[in-house]
Amino acid sequence: MKTRFFSCLKTLINTGGQSAASNSTKLLLICAISGTGGVAAYADSNSSAAPKKKQRVLVLGTGWAATSFLKDLDISTYDVQVVSPRNYFAFTPLLPSVTCGTVEARSVVEPVRNIVKKRNGEIKFWEAECLKIDHVNRKVFCRSNIDEDLPGDNSFSLNFDYLVIAVGAEVNTFNTQGVKEHCHFLKEVEDAQSIRRAVIDRFEKAVLPELTEEERKMILHFVIVGGGPTGIEFAAELHDFVHEDLVKIYPSVKDLVSITVIQSGDHILNTFDERISTFAEKKFKRDGIEVLTGHRVMGVTDRKLHMKAKATGEEISIPHGMIVWSTGVGTRPVIKEFMEQIGQGNRRVLAIDEWCRVRGLENIYAIGDCSTLCQKKIMEDITDIFREADTDNSGTLSMEEFEDVIEDVIIQYPQIELYLKSKMLNVSDLLKSMYNGKEEVDIDKFKLALSVVDEQTKSLPATAQVAAQQGAYLSNCFNRMEQCKKNPEGPRKFQSGGGRHEFRPFRYRHLGQFAPLGGEQAAAELPGDWVSMGRSTQWLWYSIYASKQVSWRTRLLVISDWCKRYIFGRDSSRI
Ligand code: FAD
Ligand code: MG
Repeated sequence: MKTRFFSCLKTLINTGGQSAASNSTKLLLICAISGTGGVAAYADSNSSAAPKKKQRVLVLGTGWAATSFLKDLDISTYDVQVVSPRNYFAFTPLLPSVTCGTVEARSVVEPVRNIVKKRNGEIKFWEAECLKIDHVNRKVFCRSNIDEDLPGDNSFSLNFDYLVIAVGAEVNTFNTQGVKEHCHFLKEVEDAQSIRRAVIDRFEKAVLPELTEEERKMILHFVIVGGGPTGIEFAAELHDFVHEDLVKIYPSVKDLVSITVIQSGDHILNTFDERISTFAEKKFKRDGIEVLTGHRVMGVTDRKLHMKAKATGEEISIPHGMIVWSTGVGTRPVIKEFMEQIGQGNRRVLAIDEWCRVRGLENIYAIGDCSTLCQKKIMEDITDIFREADTDNSGTLSMEEFEDVIEDVIIQYPQIELYLKSKMLNVSDLLKSMYNGKEEVDIDKFKLALSVVDEQTKSLPATAQVAAQQGAYLSNCFNRMEQCKKNPEGPRKFQSGGGRHEFRPFRYRHLGQFAPLGGEQAAAELPGDWVSMGRSTQWLWYSIYASKQVSWRTRLLVISDWCKRYIFGRDSSRI
């Protein structure tokens, strides 16, 4: 058990972490490659003597996906430009800690120009928002959000050869009435800072003279809509902040504080293992945090929240002092408009293929929360696969013919592997059941054997883990673009017929997920279906989140914030 614990810890730290130590090693390697000419650059086709022209790579965003892409990109081959309205990278998993001052806002951000500077200024950064993507003319239109009164035009356009869209997502309010006006969100660093100020405001307001007890109770009723990891972590942080720090400085109202979590599903943390949901629900019950499952919020006003019990249809209104809305992600306007342009207008998120390319477009990639990988269904391509595999055109597949393609099929349709894993089978078991003593199988038998695997197709979650892995995958593809054009290393093409794909498709590796539950307790789902809960898991959380910081500077700041909180408690000044 102990060995397994440490091996999981090692895997998590080694694989997912963006440690500064590994950054500097990679940087040295990149410098070495750049110094020796790196990967072959794009040559002007008109003249071999003409200077080599670098391909223009334009990156939209400075979040998880974009910085992970930029971190390892070999810029000796490309002219790289970055556009984002935020001139910093934010370590979002620590935002709930920022809401209550456990960690300071500046400890979780890294200026993007530090990342740019590391590249000797060769990556250009523009602090602006991309408003429109024109994929036909390979151009984007941007507007700077810096003071309009300063001289100069705030709008500009940029051309690209390759575009990497990594603009993330925005909060999804499901068009619920009053949410935008009366709720706090927890998506950006500014949101976390404004929640921190609002919580302290509520306490200062509640202790003012001449308020009734009812009014004080209402002011101190904190409601969290959404029982996913972010909402639950915030509820736990808030509970700790109130009970460890605020009740000591506002003793007169300590019994009037209440925290309610509203969740439309039947359980909180329902993307986690059932044991974790149950553990979290029991812990919240002990802590006095009310959890209302099976309730859908219908509307919000400045004083009340209206909801409906899904089982009974009963409508309920509760008074609140503050609401934090945390119910998943929605599409940004620039992406909506782009989706309309490219015929994806009926979709919720931008569809990409297994090479992170926007479906149907050659030079435009999308990674992170703004995109979703549409896993191809094997049954849609089954005839092409069969035709490609049947090399002797006999109309049937021999076992050798099948064995020759199965590896390429599995690479492109990972649902086969998931299916086999779920049934505890391997490829030879699949072969045995398909051939069942016979020498050849026809298309019907082939279809029948694989018809069940598509049930295993899943879309990837909108997490930093997925975004960072996609960014790293894509930079690796870009770094080897020329090499792989000449020697494709991807699987055999089935639909378009003939040849191989340039690269192996993106494959997500789930490294586990955490849910901090307050009171120095956390729950975690770790690789190998291992579930861990309690104090030791909280220490594992501390070590992993410290190791995953983007720089030594932020790592030290975060650790010192944790120590400060431990010694002095959280700061309750409203600044
Ligand atoms: P983001 O990181 O959101 O970055 C988007 C970037 O695009 C930003 O720099 C933004 O400024 C920029 N941008 C926006 N609009 C434009 C535009 N029009 N033009 C140009 N640039 C633009 N995931 C985990 O795996 N583990 C966790 O513990 C975890 N905890 C979380 C806690 C909170 C509070 C939140 C909000 C999220 C958490 N997540 C976690 C999810 C994770 O943060 C996201 O999945 C991740 O940020 C997605 O990365 P991204 O690069 O797609 O988007
Ligand atoms: Mg044959």
